[in-house]
Amino acid sequence: MASDSSFQQHEFGVKKHHATRLHYDLRLEWNGVLLSWALPEGPSYCACVVREAIEMPDHRKEYLSFEGVHPTGPIMLWDRGMWVPDQSCKDVRSSLCKGILRFTLCGEKLQGDWVLRRVRGAKNSRPPVWTLYKQADDIAKRYLDRCVLKELPNSVLTGRTMEEIVRDWSHPRNNELQGLLFAEM
Ligand code: MN
Repeated sequence: MASDSSFQQHEFGVKKHHATRLHYDLRLEWNGVLLSWALPEGPSYCACVVREAIEMPDHRKEYLSFEGVHPTGPIMLWDRGMWVPDQSCKDVRSSLCKGILRFTLCGEKLQGDWVLRRVRGAKNSRPPVWTLYKQADDIAKRYLDRCVLKELPNSVLTGRTMEEIVRDWSHPRNNELQGLLFAEM
């Protein structure tokens, strides 16, 4: 019996990336690659807040857990966990083509139901602009007046701050990791 990957859980990660300016990167693993969006202001748990999400090229899965100092700036693994597309979006590539992806996150910080929606008319803009917003659910209610970015700012991998990631990067144990550095991050 053929396995249907749409009903399995998939890994996701959110990077905090201090490049020219601080932003976040959403990575959803799908069929061996990472679907990627850059979030200039990061995600918001508030269901009434819509955040810009810039579509990026797929990234290699090997980089999902990367944390360290990249030539473009330090990168923190800010959140990680599993995601699953909504029943209505189980054909993920087709949903992306239509410009709407509803999905559930089971991360250490981000949970519940979320929506990525391509901005009307943006399909042919380069890069395509999407929005990311939280569905109104119990988790969104709990965070109504709170900012998850400020309350939980540190790495889920190591608990470190961005400053600590930079400070530790010259440590010899990181030398092997530096071989992983990749211009596309
Ligand atoms: Mn980035």
